[in-house]
Amino acid sequence: MIIAERKPFAQIKEMLAPYQRICVLGCGTCVTVCMAGGQKEAEELAALIRIQRKQDRQEATVEAFTIERQCEFEFIDQVLERLKGYDAILSLACGIGVQTLVEHVPALRVMPGLNTKFMGYPVAQGVWVERCLGCGDCVLHLTEGICPITRCAKSLLNGPCGGSAEGKCEVSKELDCAWHLIHDRLASLGRLSLMAEIQPPKDWSSSHHGGPRTIVREDVKLDRGE
Ligand code: SF4
Ligand code: SF4
Repeated sequence: MIIAERKPFAQIKEMLAPYQRICVLGCGTCVTVCMAGGQKEAEELAALIRIQRKQDRQEATVEAFTIERQCEFEFIDQVLERLKGYDAILSLACGIGVQTLVEHVPALRVMPGLNTKFMGYPVAQGVWVERCLGCGDCVLHLTEGICPITRCAKSLLNGPCGGSAEGKCEVSKELDCAWHLIHDRLASLGRLSLMAEIQPPKDWSSSHHGGPRTIVREDVKLDRGE
């Protein structure tokens, strides 16, 4: 899922300063699960903004509500008239939700309330780790499920580099060396010979290096209006 965290309040205050009718808009999926932008967080942030405005003697109407997904037109349409009643929307969706709102309803003033961090999962309550960079050509079958693109600081396809020491990455002693992990996993599965196979350079055009990507699935495609 997408992992995000709330922007510093000082930044939010500055973004919203010119506006009086403000909607803090939560999103019901990833950001709810990672406890950054669901209904609870939207209500808490709206309360904080109200307190700040009162302290600063600045008038404001601040409301909070949540839609199922800000990254799909259909869910935005369900609350479209309500959204048009605000001077500014502080979106607690990831960056995708913010852009979907703006592209679908250009008249809205939408600001990001979160910093979108990465794709990953929670390893413990309150701890999330990054696991995929969306490279567009998955190599997990070559590394037995450990992503070298994401988890190696150099995204090496043939590792480890000379900086690997005692299982840790040269970038930080807190960071496991991805290629050390891959080595140990291949060894445990009796597939260590894979380490000796040289992987050719990756075609990065399928990743973001080739520019923003689009997927068209003719088998499920339905033109809007059909
Ligand atoms: S190889 Fe690419 S698609 Fe697969 S997990 Fe890593 S970044 Fe994601
Ligand atoms: S030490 Fe390991 S994880 Fe760090 S850059 Fe080198 S191969 Fe990648």
